[in-house]
Amino acid sequence: MNNAVFNVIDNTIMQARNNADSCEEDYRNADGLLMCGKCHTPKERFLEFNKTSAFYERYKNHPFPVLCKCRKEKIDTEKEKQKRIETEMLINRFRKEGITDDNYLKYTFAHDDNKNPAISRACKKYADNFSDMYRRGLGLIFCGQVGTGKTFYAGCIANAVISQARSVLMTNIPSLITKLGYSQEEKNYVLNKISYVSLLVIDDLGVERDTPYSLEKIYEIIDTRYRSGKPLIITTNLKYKDMKTEENISYKRIYDRILQMCHPIAVLGESRRNEKALKSAEFMNDFLGLS
Ligand SMILES: [Zn+2]
Repeated sequence: MNNAVFNVIDNTIMQARNNADSCEEDYRNADGLLMCGKCHTPKERFLEFNKTSAFYERYKNHPFPVLCKCRKEKIDTEKEKQKRIETEMLINRFRKEGITDDNYLKYTFAHDDNKNPAISRACKKYADNFSDMYRRGLGLIFCGQVGTGKTFYAGCIANAVISQARSVLMTNIPSLITKLGYSQEEKNYVLNKISYVSLLVIDDLGVERDTPYSLEKIYEIIDTRYRSGKPLIITTNLKYKDMKTEENISYKRIYDRILQMCHPIAVLGESRRNEKALKSAEFMNDFLGLS
């Protein structure tokens, strides 16, 4: 056996010995191995070598340093702590980069008033099983009147998925179209992001100006996501059946892609905005003494 190999092994042993925690209470057991004075487990052990091995003669009675139980636990705890810090930092970065409107940050299951329990349950189930949804490339499309809470539900899922340390982009078409109109570099950046985030959420599809340019851009966005095979969530006040029966080819090719990727959820009910306005009106009438 080459001496250089032994030198490397000897140096490694020496380094491990130097790095090891030692305490005054450490002692040697009957076999001559160093024991930890705190947890009373070995800090050294003999290695088994085949008698024909070149290592046998040199290392047969040589104690190799190992981690005692308490030292190993301490290292594991520190690793866990470091991992938690890194995950927390990653989640914060995903939230900062992925949630483009501060209002979306408030859309969490913790803030759900549960007025539509079946939909809340469905959304929670989707978010809780996101790994599976991601693997299958399954998305959702929330259809319904303005103000029924579609964006809230989509936001709840987006925030829950970010909390699982997964990248999300929650945005709207006008914002994406504007960015796609910047430099080629910016355009590539945006298309790349559309493609790589674990979950893309597009809020309020169907309220854009329907110029041939914007339709072309919307197709580019949807098609990029489609080709990534990853989940897409959309909120829209378009009617699902209208999307299905659309005949105009410029819209049809967009809708066809979306309907292939997204499972429909109809969000029915009174507009929450009306309800809020009504409550404000009641308060003001009362407050101003007009009621
Ligand atoms: Zn110990």
